[in-house]
Amino acid sequence: MEYRRLGKSGLQLSELSLGSWLTFGKQIGNNIAEDLMKLAYDNGVNFFDNAEIYSRGESEKVMGKILKKMKWDRDSYTVSSKVFFGIRGLVDSKPTQKGLHRKHVVEACEQAMKRLNVDYLDLFFCHRPDKETPIEETVWTMHNLITQGKILYWGTSEWSAQEIMEAHMVARQYNLIGPTMEQPQYNMLHRDKVEVEFSQIYKTVGLGTTIWSPLASGVLTGKYNKAKMPKNTRLGMEGLEWLKDKNVTKDNLKKVEQVEQIAGDLGLSMPVLAVAWCLKNPNVSTVMLGASKTAQLKENFKAIAAKEKLTPDVMEAIEKALGNKPIAPAF
Ligand code: NDP
Repeated sequence: MEYRRLGKSGLQLSELSLGSWLTFGKQIGNNIAEDLMKLAYDNGVNFFDNAEIYSRGESEKVMGKILKKMKWDRDSYTVSSKVFFGIRGLVDSKPTQKGLHRKHVVEACEQAMKRLNVDYLDLFFCHRPDKETPIEETVWTMHNLITQGKILYWGTSEWSAQEIMEAHMVARQYNLIGPTMEQPQYNMLHRDKVEVEFSQIYKTVGLGTTIWSPLASGVLTGKYNKAKMPKNTRLGMEGLEWLKDKNVTKDNLKKVEQVEQIAGDLGLSMPVLAVAWCLKNPNVSTVMLGASKTAQLKENFKAIAAKEKLTPDVMEAIEKALGNKPIAPAF
């Protein structure tokens, strides 16, 4: 495992980390969640991602029980939470129970710490921008949580470059600590934000990135090409039709089919190639993996060694297979 600086901060996260969306407290049993965290930690993972909304607070409770049981030194790993949706979701939350205003951010932080069984959160993300709260209020609140020792770093998720810069301008104006990292989606099929929109702010503010859905919810494993809807997989789960419609498209399946031939030529599985491809981008601080089985995590860890096989020629061949003109990468 290699460790990468989270943007310009001195914190070093493992290049592969483990997330819990749709798995912990929902798709998988708590024993599997424990096996996944143990396997990850034993392989050098030092960052576990979570959010108040994941399984409506259950995901944090499951992770918190595991952290308590494992008794790992608190200074040997980092854990996150995210605030915005509330644990009931935007529709079922009262106005005080969601958003990025001071009341909810402070209460969400306290509640997440309790569920996760920790005395502080290493990373705390604003899960989405909040048009109803002045950015000054959110930046001040995050700054104060840092000075109170309740969080160590704060960041954003799915914010635009402009919104991130506004937060930095406020921080500069009042001499506050601005956002260190952004959590965007990034994979072979979803690239613009990370490669184009943020290209300047890696340099100007030293943005770090903890990227999500490196396998586009499993589509980049190639398994949705092999069977119409493989059994016991995320995109066959009830209530996730919207996610399936977004990811299992004719265009995406065609791209995966073409890239999978390159994976085969390199002697790699498609998920390993897809994760290694994300790791090749130096603006990615950590690739957050999701897994419903330990075998998947073991397989995906092979991406660390596979990076070496992704030479400039291979990267160019992947661009062609994705239907893009062979251009010099932006990094
Ligand atoms: P991926 O795109 O990698 O999807 C993970 C899923 O793909 C697994 O749960 C599994 O699902 C399948 N899979 C993984 N590896 C393999 C394999 N080797 N072979 C076959 N199937 C495989 O990542 P996630 O979408 O889970 O995102 C990672 C993390 O990012 C999340 O857990 C969460 O912490 C964070 N996130 C943040 C968001 C945000 O808005 N900030 C949004 C979404 C995620 P299955 O077996 O069920 O098919």
